Amino acid sequence: MPLTRRSWAEPFKIKVVEPVRLTTPEQRAKALEAAGYNTFLLRSRDVYIDLLTDSGTSAMSDRQWAGMMLGDEAYAGSENYYHLEAAVQNAYGYKHVIPTHQGRGAEHLLSRVLIKPGDIIPGNMYFTTTRLHQEMAGGTFIDAVIPEAHDPASTHPFKGNFDIDKLERILSENPRRVPYICAAATVNMAGGQPISLENLTHVRELADRHKTRIILDATRIAENAYFLQQREPGQKGRPIRAIVRDLANLTDGCTMSAKKDPLANIGGFIGINDDAVAEEISNLVVVFEGLHTYGGMAGRDMEAVAIGIEESLEDDHIRARVGQVEYLGEKLLGWGIPIVLPIGGHGIYLDAKAFLPHIPQSQYPAQALAAALYLDSGVRAMERGAVSAGRDPVSGVERFPKLELVRLTIPRRVYTQAHMDVTAESVYCVYEERHNVRGLKMTYEPRFLRFFQARFAPIN
Ligand SMILES: *Cc1c(COP(=O)(O)O)cnc(C)c1O
Repeated sequence: MPLTRRSWAEPFKIKVVEPVRLTTPEQRAKALEAAGYNTFLLRSRDVYIDLLTDSGTSAMSDRQWAGMMLGDEAYAGSENYYHLEAAVQNAYGYKHVIPTHQGRGAEHLLSRVLIKPGDIIPGNMYFTTTRLHQEMAGGTFIDAVIPEAHDPASTHPFKGNFDIDKLERILSENPRRVPYICAAATVNMAGGQPISLENLTHVRELADRHKTRIILDATRIAENAYFLQQREPGQKGRPIRAIVRDLANLTDGCTMSAKKDPLANIGGFIGINDDAVAEEISNLVVVFEGLHTYGGMAGRDMEAVAIGIEESLEDDHIRARVGQVEYLGEKLLGWGIPIVLPIGGHGIYLDAKAFLPHIPQSQYPAQALAAALYLDSGVRAMERGAVSAGRDPVSGVERFPKLELVRLTIPRRVYTQAHMDVTAESVYCVYEERHNVRGLKMTYEPRFLRFFQARFAPIN
């Protein structure tokens, strides 16, 4: 009988291994209690398969490690900065490149330079650190993503798209108060969903008509390009590199966390075309990050980012990266487990409202689900729901978003298919026993980005 499909494999082989530790249920129960039921507060040594985040957790290539040895640790004018600058200009086409220690460093500087108190920043859904920096600079974020993005069951192929009518209304109602439109590719909080080139082209037309800028959150731009290659009319067969460049060309600048798509363990940058804005950011980077030729990174880190940017744009790499996420997602779907559709670029998002309908959102079902998963198998996931959404900065009232999710985030080039199988089976077992999962109450609430450090206790 002929095969109905041929398997593919990762476009790399493993040269170095890092042991992981299996724990007992008793050890995990103790660790979870000590961590206040917050997976961010677990010690890494107590985690078996770590799907907390894909941020800074990628496996670097042998070429990147070799590049680390070429670190030029000069305070000023490091050779590696020029490699990074060339890599950014070559991949994304921005004129000026200002390095930062990571993505939020870039967001901080950009928000400070572009936003005045009272300004409005429309975006295709919020991201935690991005919105906080906009708010701290005196701005107000307004969500202008299409409504389908808030519906976990919608299979819209471009759930990262802007609602063009809504965006137009925001721009018309706020003349000269929108310093830039914040466009993310892909949209992390919607489940790693892409924005289409067609939609971004419409956004460009609006930005030009209303004389404002577009700043791209380029953190996951290669994954976005991969989805366009698969789904957007006219993009099939085009190299990822070309699609990435088309996306960036529609924008005026970017913030980047090099800990994501660029395959590095630390780093970030701002890319910007406007000379005057670049000069202001260069003035500010020395206050908060470091000189404009290192911005908080060691020379060796800048080299790793420069090489990682190149590797992130290889078609074989990105197909295997997104393919592994898809493998895990298809397995869960086959068992009828509620996940956000379509399957995103960097992780699987469990729909905690559908998974645990007996727990009201005020008792943080996604937080409870992430804790239950850890308890079952030592797999570490993270909450992306009411805890992450925090409180309204003006009223202080808790925000209860439509999406109450648990993210199983896949680090790039780190885990094998067997790790995905173990993860899927653990989710299945928790699903079978879901009626035993209880809600949580918050016992400690930090003031900023509370999801990182909040503590919880089970409700009896
Ligand atoms: C991670 C992330 C950031 C922030 O980057 P850090 O390097 O973690 O500071 C910004 N935007 C998106 C979409 C991200 O995923």
